[in-house]
Amino acid sequence: MTASRLFSLACFLLLSAGLANAQSRRGESPAFSITPTRVEAGSPELITVSVSDATSVAGEWLGHKLEFYRRDKRWIALGGVDVEAKPELSTLHITAQTPAGPIDFSRTIEIHPAHYRTGKLTVAPKFVEPGPEQLKEVAADSEIKAKIFAASALEPLWQGSFRTPVKAPPTGSFGTRRMFNGKLASIHKGMDFRAPSGTVVRASNSGVVVLARHLYFEGNCVVIDHGLGLYTLSMHFSRIDVHEGQRVKAGDKLGLSGATGRVTGPHLHWAVRWQNAYLDPAKLLHLNLNAVH
Ligand SMILES: [Zn+2]
Repeated sequence: MTASRLFSLACFLLLSAGLANAQSRRGESPAFSITPTRVEAGSPELITVSVSDATSVAGEWLGHKLEFYRRDKRWIALGGVDVEAKPELSTLHITAQTPAGPIDFSRTIEIHPAHYRTGKLTVAPKFVEPGPEQLKEVAADSEIKAKIFAASALEPLWQGSFRTPVKAPPTGSFGTRRMFNGKLASIHKGMDFRAPSGTVVRASNSGVVVLARHLYFEGNCVVIDHGLGLYTLSMHFSRIDVHEGQRVKAGDKLGLSGATGRVTGPHLHWAVRWQNAYLDPAKLLHLNLNAVH
Protein backbone atom coordinates (compact mmCIF):
# COMPACT_ATOMS: atom_id res chain seq x y z
CA MET A 1 0.00 0.00 0.00
CA THR A 2 1.41 3.41 -1.00
CA ALA A 3 1.74 6.27 1.46
CA SER A 4 -0.96 8.29 -0.33
CA ARG A 5 -3.39 5.30 -0.23
CA LEU A 6 -2.69 4.88 3.46
CA PHE A 7 -3.33 8.59 3.96
CA SER A 8 -6.66 8.50 2.15
CA LEU A 9 -7.72 5.36 4.07
CA ALA A 10 -6.89 7.13 7.33
CA CYS A 11 -8.87 10.15 6.17
CA PHE A 12 -11.83 7.93 5.25
CA LEU A 13 -11.76 6.19 8.62
CA LEU A 14 -11.53 9.51 10.47
CA LEU A 15 -14.33 10.95 8.38
CA SER A 16 -16.65 7.99 8.92
CA ALA A 17 -15.94 7.96 12.66
CA GLY A 18 -16.82 11.67 12.72
CA LEU A 19 -19.99 11.08 10.75
CA ALA A 20 -21.11 8.21 12.97
CA ASN A 21 -20.51 10.40 15.97
CA ALA A 22 -22.47 13.29 14.51
CA GLN A 23 -25.26 10.95 13.52
CA SER A 24 -25.55 9.42 16.98
CA ARG A 25 -25.56 12.91 18.48
CA ARG A 26 -28.17 14.03 15.97
CA GLY A 27 -30.17 10.89 16.66
CA GLU A 28 -29.96 11.39 20.41
CA SER A 29 -31.02 15.00 20.75
CA PRO A 30 -34.63 14.63 19.55
CA ALA A 31 -34.87 11.39 21.53
CA PHE A 32 -35.08 13.28 24.83
CA SER A 33 -37.37 16.15 25.70
CA ILE A 34 -38.51 17.94 28.83
CA THR A 35 -41.48 20.38 28.76
CA PRO A 36 -41.57 23.13 29.92
CA THR A 37 -37.85 23.55 29.13
CA ARG A 38 -37.40 26.17 31.88
CA VAL A 39 -37.68 24.10 35.06
CA GLU A 40 -38.81 26.02 38.16
CA ALA A 41 -39.85 25.14 41.70
CA GLY A 42 -43.46 24.03 41.26
CA SER A 43 -43.20 23.09 37.55
CA PRO A 44 -44.95 19.99 36.29
CA GLU A 45 -42.66 18.40 33.69
CA LEU A 46 -43.44 16.10 30.79
CA ILE A 47 -40.40 13.96 30.01
CA THR A 48 -40.17 11.82 26.89
CA VAL A 49 -37.46 9.58 25.47
CA SER A 50 -37.71 7.86 22.10
CA VAL A 51 -36.01 4.50 21.75
CA SER A 52 -37.62 2.20 19.22
CA ASP A 53 -36.41 -1.06 20.72
CA ALA A 54 -36.46 -0.27 24.45
CA THR A 55 -37.97 -2.94 26.64
CA SER A 56 -38.20 -0.66 29.69
CA VAL A 57 -37.22 2.84 30.80
CA ALA A 58 -36.41 3.74 34.40
CA GLY A 59 -35.82 7.18 35.87
CA GLU A 60 -35.09 9.00 39.10
CA TRP A 61 -35.08 12.76 39.79
CA LEU A 62 -34.78 14.73 43.04
CA GLY A 63 -35.56 11.61 45.09
CA HIS A 64 -38.64 10.73 43.02
CA LYS A 65 -39.02 7.62 40.92
CA LEU A 66 -40.19 8.51 37.40
CA GLU A 67 -42.86 6.12 36.09
CA PHE A 68 -42.54 5.82 32.31
CA TYR A 69 -45.36 4.50 30.14
CA ARG A 70 -45.06 3.60 26.48
CA ARG A 71 -46.74 5.16 23.44
CA ASP A 72 -45.33 3.52 20.28
CA LYS A 73 -41.61 4.42 20.16
CA ARG A 74 -41.94 7.00 22.94
CA TRP A 75 -41.64 6.52 26.67
CA ILE A 76 -43.35 9.20 28.69
CA ALA A 77 -43.26 10.29 32.33
CA LEU A 78 -45.26 13.10 33.92
CA GLY A 79 -43.69 14.45 37.09
CA GLY A 80 -42.34 17.69 38.38
CA VAL A 81 -40.51 19.75 40.96
CA ASP A 82 -42.01 20.55 44.36
CA VAL A 83 -43.00 24.15 45.10
CA GLU A 84 -40.43 24.17 47.94
CA ALA A 85 -37.50 22.85 45.83
CA LYS A 86 -34.32 24.94 46.08
CA PRO A 87 -32.72 26.48 43.00
CA GLU A 88 -29.81 24.18 42.13
CA LEU A 89 -28.33 21.92 39.48
CA SER A 90 -30.03 18.53 39.70
CA THR A 91 -29.27 15.24 37.99
CA LEU A 92 -32.06 13.59 36.07
CA HIS A 93 -31.25 9.88 35.80
CA ILE A 94 -32.86 7.94 32.95
CA THR A 95 -31.83 4.56 31.58
CA ALA A 96 -33.49 2.71 28.71
CA GLN A 97 -32.97 -1.04 28.47
CA THR A 98 -32.57 -2.36 24.91
CA PRO A 99 -31.56 -5.76 23.48
CA ALA A 100 -28.18 -4.16 22.60
CA GLY A 101 -27.65 -2.97 26.18
CA PRO A 102 -28.67 0.01 28.30
CA ILE A 103 -28.79 3.57 26.91
CA ASP A 104 -28.14 6.35 29.39
CA PHE A 105 -30.18 9.55 28.98
CA SER A 106 -29.05 11.14 32.25
CA ARG A 107 -28.36 14.86 32.27
CA THR A 108 -28.05 17.94 34.47
CA ILE A 109 -31.19 20.00 34.88
CA GLU A 110 -31.10 23.47 36.40
CA ILE A 111 -33.91 24.25 38.84
CA HIS A 112 -34.67 27.97 38.50
CA PRO A 113 -36.20 29.93 41.36
CA ALA A 114 -39.89 30.75 41.04
CA HIS A 115 -40.78 34.14 42.47
CA TYR A 116 -43.76 33.53 44.70
CA ARG A 117 -45.24 36.22 46.89
CA THR A 118 -45.86 36.59 50.62
CA GLY A 119 -49.37 37.24 51.93
CA LYS A 120 -51.27 37.66 55.19
CA LEU A 121 -54.62 36.07 56.01
CA THR A 122 -57.14 36.10 58.82
CA VAL A 123 -59.15 32.94 59.55
CA ALA A 124 -61.15 31.66 62.53
CA PRO A 125 -58.76 31.12 65.53
CA LYS A 126 -59.69 27.37 65.75
CA PHE A 127 -57.83 26.83 62.44
CA VAL A 128 -54.61 28.42 63.73
CA GLU A 129 -54.58 26.82 67.18
CA PRO A 130 -56.77 23.70 66.99
CA GLY A 131 -57.84 22.20 70.37
CA PRO A 132 -57.23 18.53 71.38
CA GLU A 133 -60.45 17.28 69.73
CA GLN A 134 -59.64 19.13 66.55
CA LEU A 135 -56.06 17.86 66.57
CA LYS A 136 -57.45 14.31 66.77
CA GLU A 137 -59.55 15.05 63.69
CA VAL A 138 -56.52 16.48 61.86
CA ALA A 139 -54.46 13.36 62.73
CA ALA A 140 -57.23 11.05 61.47
CA ASP A 141 -57.43 13.09 58.25
CA SER A 142 -53.66 12.74 57.75
CA GLU A 143 -53.94 8.96 58.05
CA ILE A 144 -56.70 8.83 55.43
CA LYS A 145 -54.69 11.01 53.05
CA ALA A 146 -51.47 9.02 53.55
CA LYS A 147 -53.37 5.85 52.61
CA ILE A 148 -54.84 7.22 49.39
CA PHE A 149 -51.61 8.90 48.29
CA ALA A 150 -49.74 5.60 48.72
CA ALA A 151 -52.02 3.68 46.36
CA SER A 152 -52.08 5.45 42.99
CA ALA A 153 -53.14 3.48 39.89
CA LEU A 154 -50.20 1.81 38.12
CA GLU A 155 -51.12 3.23 34.70
CA PRO A 156 -52.02 6.70 33.44
CA LEU A 157 -55.76 7.29 33.86
CA TRP A 158 -55.67 10.86 32.49
CA GLN A 159 -56.49 11.39 28.82
CA GLY A 160 -55.12 14.42 27.05
CA SER A 161 -54.61 17.84 28.61
CA PHE A 162 -56.05 18.93 31.96
CA ARG A 163 -58.96 21.40 31.93
CA THR A 164 -59.87 24.14 34.34
CA PRO A 165 -62.19 22.71 37.05
CA VAL A 166 -64.48 25.71 37.40
CA LYS A 167 -65.78 28.72 35.46
CA ALA A 168 -64.36 31.39 37.76
CA PRO A 169 -61.30 33.66 37.71
CA PRO A 170 -58.09 32.25 39.25
CA THR A 171 -56.15 34.36 41.76
CA GLY A 172 -52.62 33.24 40.82
CA SER A 173 -51.70 32.62 44.46
CA PHE A 174 -49.84 29.31 44.07
CA GLY A 175 -46.63 29.26 46.10
CA THR A 176 -47.50 32.33 48.21
CA ARG A 177 -45.88 32.25 51.65
CA ARG A 178 -48.74 32.89 54.04
CA MET A 179 -49.06 34.20 57.58
CA PHE A 180 -52.27 33.06 59.23
CA ASN A 181 -53.47 35.59 61.81
CA GLY A 182 -49.88 36.83 61.99
CA LYS A 183 -48.72 33.52 63.50
CA LEU A 184 -48.63 30.37 61.45
CA ALA A 185 -46.57 30.44 58.28
CA SER A 186 -47.41 28.08 55.44
CA ILE A 187 -46.96 27.85 51.71
CA HIS A 188 -50.07 27.96 49.58
CA LYS A 189 -49.80 24.77 47.56
CA GLY A 190 -52.80 25.19 45.30
CA MET A 191 -54.61 27.60 43.04
CA ASP A 192 -57.62 29.57 44.27
CA PHE A 193 -60.55 30.34 42.04
CA ARG A 194 -62.94 33.14 43.05
CA ALA A 195 -66.00 30.90 42.81
CA PRO A 196 -69.14 32.01 44.65
CA SER A 197 -70.77 29.24 46.75
CA GLY A 198 -72.80 26.93 44.56
CA THR A 199 -70.56 27.09 41.47
CA VAL A 200 -70.29 23.73 39.68
CA VAL A 201 -66.84 22.12 40.05
CA ARG A 202 -65.84 19.57 37.41
CA ALA A 203 -63.22 16.86 37.01
CA SER A 204 -60.23 18.34 35.18
CA ASN A 205 -59.31 14.98 33.67
CA SER A 206 -60.28 11.33 33.91
CA GLY A 207 -59.43 9.22 36.95
CA VAL A 208 -60.89 7.62 40.06
CA VAL A 209 -62.39 9.52 43.01
CA VAL A 210 -60.32 8.26 45.94
CA LEU A 211 -61.60 10.72 48.55
CA ALA A 212 -64.99 12.47 48.80
CA ARG A 213 -65.64 13.56 52.37
CA HIS A 214 -65.27 16.31 54.96
CA LEU A 215 -61.78 16.98 56.39
CA TYR A 216 -60.88 19.53 59.06
CA PHE A 217 -58.78 22.04 57.09
CA GLU A 218 -59.89 21.07 53.57
CA GLY A 219 -63.61 21.12 54.36
CA ASN A 220 -65.67 19.04 51.90
CA CYS A 221 -62.88 17.66 49.74
CA VAL A 222 -62.67 15.61 46.55
CA VAL A 223 -59.43 13.90 45.48
CA ILE A 224 -59.05 12.27 42.05
CA ASP A 225 -56.28 9.76 41.32
CA HIS A 226 -55.11 10.24 37.71
CA GLY A 227 -52.61 7.36 37.97
CA LEU A 228 -48.81 7.09 38.29
CA GLY A 229 -48.81 9.19 41.47
CA LEU A 230 -50.69 12.19 40.02
CA TYR A 231 -53.70 13.57 41.91
CA THR A 232 -55.92 16.66 41.80
CA LEU A 233 -57.53 17.92 45.03
CA SER A 234 -60.56 20.21 45.21
CA MET A 235 -61.50 21.77 48.56
CA HIS A 236 -64.13 23.72 50.49
CA PHE A 237 -67.18 22.35 48.59
CA SER A 238 -70.66 23.17 49.90
CA ARG A 239 -71.88 19.89 48.37
CA ILE A 240 -70.13 16.76 47.05
CA ASP A 241 -71.83 14.89 44.20
CA VAL A 242 -69.42 11.96 43.71
CA HIS A 243 -68.49 8.97 45.87
CA GLU A 244 -65.21 7.27 46.67
CA GLY A 245 -64.36 4.60 44.09
CA GLN A 246 -66.26 6.37 41.30
CA ARG A 247 -64.61 6.66 37.87
CA VAL A 248 -64.87 10.13 36.36
CA LYS A 249 -64.09 11.74 33.00
CA ALA A 250 -62.99 15.30 32.30
CA GLY A 251 -65.97 17.59 32.70
CA ASP A 252 -67.95 15.34 35.09
CA LYS A 253 -69.58 17.25 37.94
CA LEU A 254 -67.84 16.72 41.30
CA GLY A 255 -70.00 19.04 43.39
CA LEU A 256 -70.58 22.68 44.28
CA SER A 257 -67.97 25.11 45.56
CA GLY A 258 -68.38 26.63 49.00
CA ALA A 259 -66.62 27.84 52.13
CA THR A 260 -66.13 24.74 54.32
CA GLY A 261 -62.86 24.13 56.25
CA ARG A 262 -60.08 26.71 56.73
CA VAL A 263 -61.19 29.57 54.52
CA THR A 264 -61.52 33.33 54.53
CA GLY A 265 -64.55 33.13 52.25
CA PRO A 266 -66.11 31.04 49.47
CA HIS A 267 -63.65 29.85 46.83
CA LEU A 268 -62.35 26.71 45.16
CA HIS A 269 -58.88 25.62 46.24
CA TRP A 270 -57.50 23.33 43.57
CA ALA A 271 -54.20 21.50 44.03
CA VAL A 272 -52.03 19.15 41.97
CA ARG A 273 -49.99 16.54 43.78
CA TRP A 274 -47.42 14.23 42.23
CA GLN A 275 -45.97 11.71 44.68
CA ASN A 276 -45.35 14.04 47.68
CA ALA A 277 -44.66 17.13 45.56
CA TYR A 278 -47.13 19.97 45.01
CA LEU A 279 -47.07 21.39 41.48
CA ASP A 280 -48.40 24.63 40.01
CA PRO A 281 -51.93 23.87 38.70
CA ALA A 282 -51.74 26.80 36.23
CA LYS A 283 -48.66 25.23 34.63
CA LEU A 284 -50.37 21.82 34.43
CA LEU A 285 -53.34 23.44 32.64
CA HIS A 286 -50.87 24.89 30.09
CA LEU A 287 -49.14 21.58 29.45
CA ASN A 288 -50.23 20.02 26.15
CA LEU A 289 -50.77 16.33 26.83
CA ASN A 290 -52.96 15.71 23.77
CA ALA A 291 -49.98 14.68 21.63
CA VAL A 292 -48.71 12.03 24.03
CA HIS A 293 -51.77 9.90 24.34
ZN1 LIG B 1 -56.29 27.99 48.54
